[in-house]
Amino acid sequence: MARRAWRQLHINAAECLVCADRALLLALKTGDLAAEAAARLARGFHSLYFLQPADAAAELRHAEALFGQAGDRTGQLLASAGVGRALWRSGQVQAALDHLLPMRDEGLRLLRHEQRGVLLNAIAGCYSAQGRSEEAFAYMYEALRGAGPARGHGFDAALHCNLSHELLQLGDHDEALAQVDRGIARCAGMRNARLESVLRINRVIGLTELGRAAEALPEVQRILALPATPGGRGVTALHFETLAIAALRAGDAALGADLLQRAGANTAGMQPDERVELAVAQALLCQLQGDLPAALAALDAVAALVDAPALRVGNVDGGSDGNVDGGSDGNVDGGSDGDGDGGGAALRACALVEQLRSQLHEALGDAPTALAAVRRWQAINAQRARLASRARYQAAVLQTELVKMQHKLEENDLQRRATERQRSDMVLANTALQRKIEEVQALQSALREQATHDALTGLFNRRHLNDTLPQLLAQSLREREPLTAVVIDLDHFKAVNDQHGHPAGDELLAAFGRLLLDGLRGSDIAFRYGGEEFCVLMPRTAADAACSKVQQLLGRWRMQRFALDTGELIGLSFSAGAADAQRAVHTPMQLLRAADDLLLAAKRAGRGRVLAAPVQRVV
Ligand code: GH3
Ligand code: MG
Ligand code: MG
Repeated sequence: MARRAWRQLHINAAECLVCADRALLLALKTGDLAAEAAARLARGFHSLYFLQPADAAAELRHAEALFGQAGDRTGQLLASAGVGRALWRSGQVQAALDHLLPMRDEGLRLLRHEQRGVLLNAIAGCYSAQGRSEEAFAYMYEALRGAGPARGHGFDAALHCNLSHELLQLGDHDEALAQVDRGIARCAGMRNARLESVLRINRVIGLTELGRAAEALPEVQRILALPATPGGRGVTALHFETLAIAALRAGDAALGADLLQRAGANTAGMQPDERVELAVAQALLCQLQGDLPAALAALDAVAALVDAPALRVGNVDGGSDGNVDGGSDGNVDGGSDGDGDGGGAALRACALVEQLRSQLHEALGDAPTALAAVRRWQAINAQRARLASRARYQAAVLQTELVKMQHKLEENDLQRRATERQRSDMVLANTALQRKIEEVQALQSALREQATHDALTGLFNRRHLNDTLPQLLAQSLREREPLTAVVIDLDHFKAVNDQHGHPAGDELLAAFGRLLLDGLRGSDIAFRYGGEEFCVLMPRTAADAACSKVQQLLGRWRMQRFALDTGELIGLSFSAGAADAQRAVHTPMQLLRAADDLLLAAKRAGRGRVLAAPVQRVV
């Protein structure tokens, strides 16, 4: 709702306020800080554009603080830009600039579209009020670049209006009229009579000063047809004197007189430009009525304002003369007249006077005085032209500066993204590397396993026996502890293969491996010695103890039942020989051969038995 209010600000002020108020109520009810901030922002800017700058400042400061609490820096900057504009509008132009300029760069970085335009336009307004048209002009153009019709929410129309005002001050009437056309085209579909009327007034000024006052007349009628109400074109600062000049220049004395009377009805608080224009209108009426001395007298009455060389070319009052930022009552713009202290009229108004003076003196046959007036008029216009060209230069400089900043910004952004990408690439690479390391480790341990183990039974393999046995044997001899090697051979295994198939034989071998692993002590080590031959090393175990252990295993093997596809198998046996290293053994080969011999003896003795004969110690 608050956002809608913001978008309606220039399009439909009444709707904007309704939405903003509703949003504020809802936000307060729900305690939604961000929404409250946004609602107050819209209300603040509404006050700024259509009501009193003091109200606006309070609301915008509130919004600024709330945005701060909600951690919304963009909103905070926007509200702060409004506070700056309110400062200017209440006459504190330098304070406003001091407030706005430090936030410019950050604002340009964070604000987008018409929000960026709001900040730039606030700065432009200050410069305009200080008579620094070049800077004002530059900032306005830049503001317009950000707030195109697609994103401007009608704010672009206000910018076209301000630009046309500034261009009129600089004497660039054609460009001013082009800006007016764009602004008025944008006003279609918007309900902003105030903005439209100011745009049309600028068109009247442009046409009149181009010597096309007759074309301005229908425009004057259209302006007068707009209701002079707060929701219409406003109730004060209606620029009747400007319209009067157009009517009189077009030769419509009746309309001119009527407008002049309306303009003169309230001269209190009139700005220098307005007073000068009023005098010009009076002089024009006198001229039309044939009273040339009275016309000159009217101009002389404002001589002090015209002769004081206008240092400033812009409108000193920040908008009494066509800068749209007017509240509906107009005099909010006049608020900045505190800055116009003792200032004369702007160059545009001065030019009007000198031009008319020269015409009057010429008509009176006073060629030298007329010539002098023409020369002053020419000088003023030359100055306007100089300012115009400086303004264009300034605009170009500012644009270059901003484009550079934008580039720098994009560069930083790219760099930041590149660093982030690098960082995430590195994280990815690390993860991949970690995975690879784990793979290699797994592979290594698999290889180790394969190198030392027999895949079918899970027991150690013969190679590992060759590695292990020498150490165990040396230790046994050194410590004089027994070490028994048992060699086991499954009985009639060929028959199993033959009757039940090779896979069944494998199954039996695997089962025998499990039997050994389960049945032996942790300190015993079982190996698959060959096809269906196994070897068990039993450290600190004498041959007879080993023998009874292996007989237990034989008992369990006999009991083991195998349900094969080809039938059930039970009562399997093996033969084994157990030899102790403490008996006349010096090498692993001798120990294994001793055990092998015993195995052979067991086979010969009828299989299904374990023989353990102590090897005779060799003395
Ligand atoms: P004995 O009682 O005299 O030891 O008779 P045997 O049939 O067990 O002995 P023999 O040496 O004649 O046959 C051993 C069989 O073991 C022959 C071979 O096919 C089988 N064998 C060896 N390694 C494997 C194996 O990995 N898987 C299977 N299924 N059979 C194997
Ligand atoms: Mg064998
Ligand atoms: Mg065998």
